[in-house]
Amino acid sequence: MTTIYGDEEYKCGRCNENFEYGEIRSDWCCPKYHHPVGIKAIIKDNNYYTIRIKPHQLKEGDLLRLHGDMVFEVINCKLDYFDQNIYRIALKEYTVVEKNKDEYVEIINGGWY
Ligand SMILES: [Zn+2]
Repeated sequence: MTTIYGDEEYKCGRCNENFEYGEIRSDWCCPKYHHPVGIKAIIKDNNYYTIRIKPHQLKEGDLLRLHGDMVFEVINCKLDYFDQNIYRIALKEYTVVEKNKDEYVEIINGGWY
């Protein structure tokens, strides 16, 4: 389950095309190039370029958006020792959050211009 925000816009950073929600909602990727499509996110009145990826694609230093307007730096992301469907994401100066392996997470990839 991914939280969808009402004011989103979708634009591919590679082919520069705009997309409708229905075109990209299945995997949050550009239908042409199959890489994550840019999603305009408004966080605390600033416009950000975000993407939605699966937890296993997270890297150290990624900026993870949580609860709408909170952003945390990823320290690491590991498969749960006991439950292979769950990833445990350690966040700097916060805590560890759990996400299902198929659940998309949103990370910030710069500003939206
Ligand atoms: Zn594209």
